Amino acid sequence: MKEYDVLIIGAGVVGCAVARELSRYCLRIGVAEKELDVACGNSSRNTGMLHAGFTYKPGSLKAECAVEGNQEFDRVAEELNIPFKRTGKLVVGFTDHDRENILKFKAIGEQNGVRGMRMVTKEEMKEIDEHAGGEFAMYVPSSGILDPMQYTIALAENAAMNGAEFLLGRRVTGIRREGERYLAETDKETISSRWVINCAGMYAPEISEMLGYPKYPTKGFKGEYFVLDKKAGKFLGIPVYPAPNDKGGFMTHATPTVDGNVLVGPDSYITEGREDYAVTKEHMDGLIEDGKKMFDHMDRSYFIRNFAGIRWKRYDPETGEILDFLLEADDAHPCTVNLVGIESPGITCALPLARRAVKKLAEKEELKPREDFDPRRPGIRRFSEMTREERTEAVKADPDYGEIVCRCETVTRAEIRQAIHNPLGVCTVTGIKNRTRATMGRCQGGYCETRITRMIEEELGIAPEEVRYSKEGGYLFTGKVRDVE
Ligand SMILES: Cc1cc2nc3c(=O)[nH]c(=O)nc-3n(C[C@H](O)[C@H](O)[C@H](O)COP(=O)(O)OP(=O)(O)OC[C@H]3O[C@@H](n4cnc5c(N)ncnc54)[C@H](O)[C@@H]3O)c2cc1C
Repeated sequence: MKEYDVLIIGAGVVGCAVARELSRYCLRIGVAEKELDVACGNSSRNTGMLHAGFTYKPGSLKAECAVEGNQEFDRVAEELNIPFKRTGKLVVGFTDHDRENILKFKAIGEQNGVRGMRMVTKEEMKEIDEHAGGEFAMYVPSSGILDPMQYTIALAENAAMNGAEFLLGRRVTGIRREGERYLAETDKETISSRWVINCAGMYAPEISEMLGYPKYPTKGFKGEYFVLDKKAGKFLGIPVYPAPNDKGGFMTHATPTVDGNVLVGPDSYITEGREDYAVTKEHMDGLIEDGKKMFDHMDRSYFIRNFAGIRWKRYDPETGEILDFLLEADDAHPCTVNLVGIESPGITCALPLARRAVKKLAEKEELKPREDFDPRRPGIRRFSEMTREERTEAVKADPDYGEIVCRCETVTRAEIRQAIHNPLGVCTVTGIKNRTRATMGRCQGGYCETRITRMIEEELGIAPEEVRYSKEGGYLFTGKVRDVE
């Protein structure tokens, strides 16, 4: 039986941030994740904005963590070696009501400690980005963009480097207390731990109930997206959001990604399905209409992919009111930390939430800092980001840097090889994609996917029939169509 001091359930951005912050201390840490990789839930299905924190209720955990997470992110990105751009954001308006709402949330932002927001005229707005729609805007300098998959992977790898163990493909199905320990049943084995931390995202209410807390009601707000080609990315340098609605929610926005694409979306509608990530024509059509208002190069010829994510919001069933993030720990449920309703801005808030979760442990027992804790994670050296001289040196040192596998994103064999031997032991095609960007370009893997599969087979010594795309049971090949000499 695997035994830990702390078992974290869920390896989204929150669980991985908790693992990373806990790995600063002398603790045996396990992270149980039902999928075959980290960042397979909503942590990979979002806009990747580092939010500034101007739409959240003053004094709320969301507001506190968003502002804290925003202000520290330059250092975090540097430590974890992940791409991050502090682009700022334009919140654009068309009507007097839009202006009223923008000013209302500007005042809330100032109360929350968001710095430097200012109203700009149409002319000033066009100077900031000539392709942004709108008649006027609020410019928010502290907003930024990041790759949420890379961020989650980096947090997990840094935690693993500092001793945390990731138990992938383990769905927790029940938890019972025996003496001073918890026994978590998974579909593969039983895991024993002194502490349990619930970071299960959309299934957090179920884990909450297993720990003896209420099964807090949550409601799914689904949003669909278009991904636009890098050709469109050349026209957009800053996220363009519409004025928030009366409750502070944003509808379809246009956001450049750190890698040069543009995301258009999400819209927002209620869904019942926990993992209902299907995209629909009806919503895609709506995105085109609304997207055009934000970005004048929104055009079908740029579309390369679409996806959906679901914000699981905690709400009060009597009033319907959407509630704040929940982070709780009490003596009635010893040695547990329960996080529920971590919807947007959960990416921005992950590390501040993680520190607050660690504090709950530290209130109950003395945590001994690890002397050898290293906050830095090297990551994969990207050929596409190297100078000509660096490329020459890289190819000399490792000839695999001289062979391009993904042509659209200029990803080399050396990077794919490093991704296959990642610190978490992930061996799916999606895992390689999220670590290198191979298959994320215009052709969406048409050219490189079979080459990547072949490399997985060769590097791991497995048969083609054993290679999985992303999910348990998601095998790419069932056998040979014909024998080739
Ligand atoms: C459309 C959309 C846009 C968003 N935009 C932004 C944004 O721009 N900026 C921002 O800051 N935030 C944004 N967010 C919010 C952010 O994506 C989420 O708050 C964050 O990803 C939640 O992370 P998590 O780790 O709590 O959940 P998840 O990423 O869902 O991770 C939970 C993990 O738990 C695992 N799990 C569940 N049950 C079990 C079990 N029984 N056993 C083992 N494992 C289990 C799941 O497989 C999953 O991997 C957005 C969200 C959405 C949906």
